[in-house]
Amino acid sequence: MDCNEIRRLLEAATDGELDVAHQLAVEEHLGRCPLCARAVEGIHARRTALQTALPRFTAPPALAEKVRSALRNEGAPVRTSASQSKRADVFPLWRVTGLAASLAMALFVGYTWGGSRVRTQALVDEAVSDHVRSLQANHLMDVASTDQHTVKPWFAGKLAFSPPVTDLAGVGFPLVGGRLERVAGQDAAALVYRRRQHAINLFIWPARREAAPPVTRERDGYNVVSWTDGSFNFLAVSEIPAVELADFAEEIRQATP
Ligand SMILES: [Zn+2]
Repeated sequence: MDCNEIRRLLEAATDGELDVAHQLAVEEHLGRCPLCARAVEGIHARRTALQTALPRFTAPPALAEKVRSALRNEGAPVRTSASQSKRADVFPLWRVTGLAASLAMALFVGYTWGGSRVRTQALVDEAVSDHVRSLQANHLMDVASTDQHTVKPWFAGKLAFSPPVTDLAGVGFPLVGGRLERVAGQDAAALVYRRRQHAINLFIWPARREAAPPVTRERDGYNVVSWTDGSFNFLAVSEIPAVELADFAEEIRQATP
């Protein structure tokens, strides 16, 4: 993703609505682009400055009286030309509300940006622990089949969406089954693939945003790749090397229309 796309996502981040793939794409970009990183620093700096300044912001008595007088004038039924010229002197009320609104917005931006980062970290942690649990508890699959035409219909009626199911046996990643999972508080399909003696969990759930390319993360010895194709979020977890998991992601992307 280029800087323009990232800047567009920084705007979206203020809504706190970035999914894991976009959030990771943004963080990955910020790690290698000083210009965009500075834009985020600006947001952080503004937040810090406002947090420091905010408790000291108290209206001086003169200002408070002007605001009160403006309110009184607002309610006055008849306005003489004298009272109108007097109104022109008072501190405009819209500036006070405008200032309050921009303070609130700046705090909100800082808060949601930090919040979406934390949520993304939590989601990666959650996916890794789902993966580990699925291996340890011998609960890797609810439907065990190497046939994508068996696995795909199995999800029908269990999920509100139909996940794309592809077998990659031809390129060394055979499909072995699937199960239901919860990811980020949403229902997700977990497809299970094999690479030699290792399992790959591929979590799939509906996306709310346009496509984002794969981003790789390492967590506690496990590799995580996430991306979105605009229709679905994909998150693959495995202990296989990052390079192989990236190949897996690429094969899934090419096979998913
Ligand atoms: Zn950039």
